[in-house]
Formats: sequence, C-alpha cells, structure tokens
Amino acid sequence: MEIRYWNQRLETLPRHELRQLQLERLREVVGYALQTPFYQKRLPKAGISSPEDIRSLDDLKKIPFTVKDDLRQAFPKGLLAVDMEKVVRIHSSSGTTGIPTVIYYTADDLDRWTDLLARSIVATGAGPADVFQNMMSYGLFTGGLGMHYGAERVGMAVIPVGGGNTQRQLQIMRDFRTTVLHITPSYLLHIHQRMPEFGLTPADLNLKKAWMGAEPHSENTRLKLQELFGIDIYNSYGLSEMNGPGVAFECVYKNDLHVWEDGYIIEIIDPRTGEPVEDGQEGEVVFTNLIRHALPLLRYRTRDLAFLHPEPCPCGRTARRMSRITGRTDDMLIINGVNVFPSQIEEVLMSIPEVGTNYQIHLSRHEGLDRLTVKVEIYSKLFTGDLAALEALKNKINEKLRASITINSRIELHEPGSLPAFEGKAKRVVDEREKL
Ligand code: AMP
Ligand code: ZN
Repeated sequence: MEIRYWNQRLETLPRHELRQLQLERLREVVGYALQTPFYQKRLPKAGISSPEDIRSLDDLKKIPFTVKDDLRQAFPKGLLAVDMEKVVRIHSSSGTTGIPTVIYYTADDLDRWTDLLARSIVATGAGPADVFQNMMSYGLFTGGLGMHYGAERVGMAVIPVGGGNTQRQLQIMRDFRTTVLHITPSYLLHIHQRMPEFGLTPADLNLKKAWMGAEPHSENTRLKLQELFGIDIYNSYGLSEMNGPGVAFECVYKNDLHVWEDGYIIEIIDPRTGEPVEDGQEGEVVFTNLIRHALPLLRYRTRDLAFLHPEPCPCGRTARRMSRITGRTDDMLIINGVNVFPSQIEEVLMSIPEVGTNYQIHLSRHEGLDRLTVKVEIYSKLFTGDLAALEALKNKINEKLRASITINSRIELHEPGSLPAFEGKAKRVVDEREKL
C-alpha cells in the first residue's frame, strides 16, 4: 500500500516528542484561555493562574471539564480570547435553547486547521490530480468551508457545490469527472437510489473516493456503499467546537480514525464519574483544542462515545486511532447530518398556542434520506375542523420549526387525546430509521 504524508515529520513524530509538543501548545492555549472572562473565573480556582502552572501533561487533569452549556452561557463573547479585529471567521452550531454556540477563528487558527485537513486528505491517498465535489453544506456549518480550504491547499480542483439538489449533483459529477466526494452517509445512499431516475449507474461516473462524516454510520454501511459505487470510503470526524472536520480521519488502511494529537488532546472518560477509562474501553470523548487561539476550549466534553485503539497503525503515523462513534451520552438526534435536540422541537411547539402538550417526534428513512415527522395534538377549543385553518397551522408549525432546527419536517395534526399518553417518563422520539 502506498503511504503518502502531508507533513511526514509531524505525522510520524515519536510519541515522547509528540507529548512534548502537546505540552508546549497546551501552555500556549492556557495563556489564551486566561484572557477570557469564562476561564478567568475557572482556572485560578483550579490552581492555574498562568501557563507556567502547567508543568506536565498530567496537570491537564486539574482543569475542570467544559460543556456545551458553558459555551451557551458564555455567548457571545465570554470565551473570546483575542480582539475582534483579529477574528477573521465565525462559525456556529445550533443550540438546544435557541442560543447558538459561536466559534471564532483568527487567520492563524484557520491556517492551522486547514493544515490538518490537508493532512487528512493526503492520508486517504487523494491529491492534486483529484477533482473534489464538496457536498457538505456551506455556511455556518464547518463541513463546507473547512474542507474546501483543506482541499485547495492540497491542490485539488474544488467544486463548492454544497448539499442538496441531487440532479444537479449528478450532472456536475458527470460533467467534471469528479473523483472525490465529501458527503454524509445518508446523502450518498440517497444519490445511489436516485441514479436510475436520471438513467445513470456508478459506471457512468469517475468516482474514486468519498470522505464520509457528520453522522454516525456502521462498518456495514461503509462496506455497502463502497460496493454500490465501487469506491473507497473513509470515515471523517470532527465537531465545530474543535474547529470542524479534520479532528480525526482514516488513513488508507481504513482501520478507524487517526486523531491528530498535535492539534487536539483526546481523553476518553467514564461519563458518570469523569475518570479516564482504559485504552480499548468505550467512554465519552473529551478534547482539548491545542491550535485555536481566538476561542480556546479545554477538556471539552463532546458527548460522543468511542474508544481508543492502543496498537499503532501500519501506516507509520504515531497519532493514535479512535473507533467510529458508537453513540451519544445525550439525546441528540442527527437528521441528514444536522444536529437536533428534541428539546428544541419541544420549545418551538410549546410556543404555538394552538398546540396541545402532547406531541411525538417520528423519524423514518425514505430513499436513503431521513424524514422527520412531528405529530402534534391540537387544543380542543381550537379544533374547529376547518381544513384551510388546519393547513395554515401546519405551515406555521413547519416554518417555526425550520427557523429553529434548519430542516423541513412533515407536520401531522392529531385530535386532542389521540396520541399515546404517558404515565411515567414520556417516550417522545420514535426512531424507525434502519441503522446506517
Ligand atoms: P457539528 O458541531 O455540527 O459539526 O456536529 C458534530 C457532531 O457530529 C459530533 O459531535 C458527532 O456527534 C457528529 N459526527 C461528526 N462526524 C461524525 C462521524 N464521522 N461519525 C459519527 N458522528 C459524527
Ligand atoms: Zn494509519
């Protein structure tokens, strides 16, 4: 197998040197963290008042965890460590309460992030000869622009098409002889199912590889999609809090994801106790961002579950590998790659006077894509049976929901008392998607 590196020295750095580099970078980001109101309150209490208080990597353990809610509380600038003049990019991900989380980047932050993406791309064997169609949505989501700049840095021909519009995607793939895709598993499956409609088969395309991420999927899904398209598929993992994609990526061996440990310190903890678990044991993934100065995040709890492989990879990279994501510690749903919390849906529904208190969130899959159906009971006094009024109400609910969760849903209105009632803990989410 041919192994290509983007930065061979860093990618094959002996572990003790890698740890030394992590220590230096940790001190640096702690210095930035101490510029933010949020960490100014937190770190001195933990005995860290200056970067020198980090004497070894073990001192990381003194730092309390940071959670998603801290980012919301700190909105908009409580975690900003540099002057706004230094900020050149802002990304954001949606929140459970309508308050978004916001990520700031300096030009140097973007440069370091882009470099890890270039490294990820080259690790999968892609290069300047490739034509890359980026099907992740551009905008506040990091999967679009993030990967875009990484691919340009490698010298690929980048087609910044973004998500959706399957017919056009296929047309572009054919016209430009696209060789590499960046895509969610559900969308790749959907494209395959729609191809016959346009008289196409994978043999009409020039696809060689796909980087697949943003939502959980199984090894079987990868194998199935590889077979359907006759391509190589690599797992790509990231989250906006750690810049976006390029936190962990598979190499040509496709045996789980190298975590770029010079950019991110990974810890796997028992989500109940916060204590570290043994290598090979599943737990919650915690990251410390070592390369972003505008918005430092230390020991961020991702709520993703995975485990670390103790043994090295035959590719020679010294960065350890994490397993694919096996689950979440919270109830976050990923619907066609978009993160949605049931509480966001509830909040919108309960703000609409016509909607009663009973509702159900139903997920299914059609032509490879996820479908969200929200079933709501409407208030008896408002239940007039006037069809036009009901239609208008459905539209209103869908519009309000879309404004909050960014995706379309089907709304079903139900008579008062007709949805299942719960005596104990309500089970509001019914997920009937077959496992990807
Ligand atoms: P976002 O911050 O919107 O990019 O969402 C990040 C979340 O998406 C992660 O915390 C994971 O839950 C999920 N995610 C991203 N990539 C993958 C992947 N390759 N496999 C499983 N889940 C993923
Ligand atoms: Zn490898």
